[in-house]
Formats: sequence, structure tokens, C-alpha cells
Amino acid sequence: MTVIDLGDVRLTRVLYLDATIDPAPVGLTADEVRAVTWGAPQWADDGQVRAASCVWVISDGGRHVAVDPSGNIDEILHDQASTAAHQAAYAAAFAAAGTPIESVDTVLLSHIESIGLSAVRDGDGWRPFFPNARLSINDRAFAAFEADRPLGDLGDAFLALIDADLVDTFGDGDEVLPGVSAEWTGMHNPGHCAFHVGRSATFVGHLAVSPLHLGTGPCPPQHAEPEAAWRWLQALVTDPERIIIGPLWPSPGALRWRSGQPEPVDAR
Ligand SMILES: [Zn+2]
Repeated sequence: MTVIDLGDVRLTRVLYLDATIDPAPVGLTADEVRAVTWGAPQWADDGQVRAASCVWVISDGGRHVAVDPSGNIDEILHDQASTAAHQAAYAAAFAAAGTPIESVDTVLLSHIESIGLSAVRDGDGWRPFFPNARLSINDRAFAAFEADRPLGDLGDAFLALIDADLVDTFGDGDEVLPGVSAEWTGMHNPGHCAFHVGRSATFVGHLAVSPLHLGTGPCPPQHAEPEAAWRWLQALVTDPERIIIGPLWPSPGALRWRSGQPEPVDAR
């Protein structure tokens, strides 16, 4: 588990599992991964990419906000035969982290791309995994969803939350909880946002799917605007004090950029 205290705000990373995966799903080749001199062993393994299924929770004043919970493994997480086991394991991990799933009041998404733990199967339909949480997404992500609803489980799951009146929207620059602001970025997809905890920490969403993306340059397989995304990341890493966090990054899941390479944040 990674816990980071920033004044009154606590960031807790609830981990399900770390894995080593093929680089193609993150938009890289094995050669590109091997070319990152600081990649192995922390963030890469030979030409493979390290990644995690986890959930970052932002806690402040009794509130608990789950950010991009366990995205991009829907085919595993929501498999009919095994979803109950995954849900039970996640619920236990949240309880062990001191943030039981009942205490989470908001699921905050950087963009709509996978269901993650925004919703779980409920018979033939979908219900929130966090029983007391509302879903919060950027207004442009909501508009894009409404204009062109995804087919299949992804569309069905989010539509179920919308129909249950559980979805709120926020705009560019809005505070999503005190001291935490949203930045609409686009670049990855039309509704994509990053989240800033003051000037102390930034959740980059999928602008860097892997920490390796901080060194591999523009990534056309991942982004609608790869050059702009690369420039955004380059600006971000000019601050050596800022903690940078990605929802799919391997443990410890957070780093500071110092002297041209990442320095992992201490886990505990
Ligand atoms: Zn994405």
C-alpha cells in the first residue's frame, strides 16, 4: 500500500495486484520499452511493462474519493464467473486500507474508457460497486458519451448509473473536492481530465498510461493529440517536488521527476 499525506489530504493506493504485461496495450513496442534507460527494474522488465490493478483514494475531512478505480481490465473484473471473487478481494483490500467501500462517497474518472469499479454486474444490469458513491465525470466526457454511446457493457454500465441519477459533472478548473481541482486536457480523448492536489500532486489519467511514457515521447497509439500530450507531460516534469500519479502505474504508483528520471515515492 502507498500512503501519501499532503497537509489535510491523504492519498491511499489500494492495491489488488501488480503484473507484467505486453507493451502493445499501452501503445509501446518492446524496443521502445528497452530503450528507456531508467525503465527496468522498477517500471519495466526487459521489453515488458509493469502495471497494476489498483485504486487511488483521495481522503479529506471524512470524504473518500476513488480515482479511476481499477480501469482497463473489464474483461477480467466483470467476467460473469469470477466477478464476485474480484469484488470480494477489492472490498477486503479497501477495508484493510482503512477506507471500506461503504465510506467512498465519489468515484472520480479522468475519462470514460472502461467500467472499472464504477459499476459491477447486478443480475442482467449494473449497480455501483461503492454502495454510497456518486460518479463524477467531466462535462465534455458526459456530452461525448451522450452523443455517441458505446455499445455493450461499457455503455450499459454507465447508462445504468445515469438512469439511477448517480452521475454528476464538473467543468475545467472546478474543485472536485476542497483543494483538488480538475484540468480538462483532452488530448487522450475528448473528455479527458487530470486532477491536481494543490501544487503537491497530479493525477495524470491516461496522458501517461505507464511511467515509461514520461520518457518515450509522443504516443500516437494512445492519444488523439500525441504531440500535445507529450508537451503537457514535459511541462509537468519541470517541478521536482510534484508527486505524479497514474491510475495503472505499478507499485508504488507515484513518483517525482528528478534529474531526468523518475524517483519512486516511498511506499509504506
Ligand atoms: Zn484511456
